[in-house]
Amino acid sequence: MSYGRQNGDTVKKGRLFVISGPSGTGKGTICKRLTDIADAKLSVSMTTRAPRPGERDGINYYFVEESRFREVLDAGGFLEHAEVYNCLYGTPKQPVFEHLNAGRDVILEIDIQGALRVRERCPEGVFIFVLPPSMSELRKRIVGRGSETEESVNLRMGETLKEISCIDKYDYCVVNGVLDDAVNRIAAIMTAEHSRVDADVAELLERYRNEEAALQGDAPTKGDR
Ligand code: ADP
Ligand code: 5GP
Repeated sequence: MSYGRQNGDTVKKGRLFVISGPSGTGKGTICKRLTDIADAKLSVSMTTRAPRPGERDGINYYFVEESRFREVLDAGGFLEHAEVYNCLYGTPKQPVFEHLNAGRDVILEIDIQGALRVRERCPEGVFIFVLPPSMSELRKRIVGRGSETEESVNLRMGETLKEISCIDKYDYCVVNGVLDDAVNRIAAIMTAEHSRVDADVAELLERYRNEEAALQGDAPTKGDR
């Protein structure tokens, strides 16, 4: 699917899309699908939590000991970091800016505390909040994922209503009921963001003017006919 900029013959900075919301709403599932259909780079976070079955180092996360996480933190290597459910998570800064500067869109799938920090540092980012269709479905999804203890499920459910109260700091909200609908809706948001009237459009208009001036220059004058 082509959703990106419309005057793509010059390299522009990519756009930063931040997708967050309570645990279990389906952010990870949505982001995986988005990277299949959209030309965007999904940032790989660093975490101190243990890998779940099937998760791979460097693909799902960089799984590290706390000492290594703190080294990166002290060296200023994170765009943001947060403690989430007793583990540390951080977004490595360098790859994000490298991709943006190379003109690629970047997706961050991070928690709400992290998203609010990114909003301070990168207010030009696009902030999307993923909501569950209902609290009972949310619980079912967290339990169904099979990765949490009962205590951890209750902890995540307990945080949900608090987290949802931050929704007014976001630009968009998307209810993840039917997965395809949620993915298509976010892809549509990405398309819309690339259709904004901004500096890219000014350049496009300048190109039209130059092109038209050149065409006028080429046009035969009356006397030539
Ligand atoms: P998050 O990243 O927000 O914590 P996940 O992507 O891990 O959530 O999704 C939690 C669980 O819900 C997973 O088992 C996933 O397969 C399931 N899930 C995600 N989206 C949907 C959906 N739209 N309908 C049904 N199940 C879903
Ligand atoms: P999980 O352990 O279920 O993969 O993730 C737990 C929570 O941490 C999710 O809400 C997820 O979005 C968030 N998360 C993942 N990576 C990061 C990150 O780099 N920074 C922040 N702040 N949150 C993250």
